[in-house]
Amino acid sequence: MTLLDIDNSGLTPVGECTTKAALVALDYGGRSDSRDAMDAGNVFHAGLQKHFEGGSRDESFEAFNLEYFSLFPVEKPAQDDRLSLGNLQDIFGVYIDRHPLNIQPYEVLSAETIIGCPLDDAGEINIWAKRDLKIRDKATGFIMPLDHKTTGGVNHRWQSGWSLCSQLPGYCWITNKETGAYCPGAYVNAIEIRLLPSSSSRCAKHGMKYNECRLEHTLFKMLYYDYTRDVIDGWRSTAIILARRFLLIKKQYPTLEHIKYAPQEGLTNRSCAFCQFKKFCQAGRYPHTADIFLSYNKFAPWESEAAVWFDWRR
Ligand code: SF4
Ligand SMILES: [Zn+2]
Repeated sequence: MTLLDIDNSGLTPVGECTTKAALVALDYGGRSDSRDAMDAGNVFHAGLQKHFEGGSRDESFEAFNLEYFSLFPVEKPAQDDRLSLGNLQDIFGVYIDRHPLNIQPYEVLSAETIIGCPLDDAGEINIWAKRDLKIRDKATGFIMPLDHKTTGGVNHRWQSGWSLCSQLPGYCWITNKETGAYCPGAYVNAIEIRLLPSSSSRCAKHGMKYNECRLEHTLFKMLYYDYTRDVIDGWRSTAIILARRFLLIKKQYPTLEHIKYAPQEGLTNRSCAFCQFKKFCQAGRYPHTADIFLSYNKFAPWESEAAVWFDWRR
């Protein structure tokens, strides 16, 4: 019998802070200042999804623009902001022009999928993942996940952070179970969202005015992370332990009224600094402040049109 459905955003906070995990278990998210950047990431995902489904340039832009206008009020962000429509469109346009599907080192097997399967042998815990692409590497024949990631800076620190994370080995484990074939790694399609330069001063790198070479300042990288079988199996063991703890937390703090009794380990392990619930905690964790500091999103990935469920135990 299924006791719990969980994804990586439920597993991660268990290791960080009980208050954070308890809020996620109640299907709350924070109203964080970085919401705009997350929304810009969603805009790119919508456009990329169409592009990797084989859509034309116009169709990809249509999906991109549709998502943009559904997420951003017309008056913001400002024109000189990295998240302004013009800047995002310029970056997206360069991306799709430089990444026609037929010259990629991989073949796209399926576009965005909300994929779920049992995590444990007993089938008490279901693990879910939003996998952007399932690809077949043309050189090796391996079937692997590919994740689109947008960021303000594709720098060394950001890139190396993905080698030790829960998400990508988890995607490998799920893909391995789905295909029945060893999945040795994952690709990250890194897209930098920075404000492209537009001044009339001279660019030292390109020897022309910035407003002439601005599109050359886009940055895209296809990163590959490989994981040994031990790492991928270890991910599963850890995920089961975390999921069982999550289940206990869910039972122990069943309503917002109970949250004030939950430990706040984040205060001692530096998790608070970038926590989505920072403002809620700073204000005292009072249920009546939920409307101001929290957003509610029912966790039900199986209800998505893109949901695919499989049971590898059969
Ligand atoms: S702000 Fe700190 S204490 Fe509050 S939920 Fe986040 S990590 Fe935990
Ligand atoms: Zn330049």
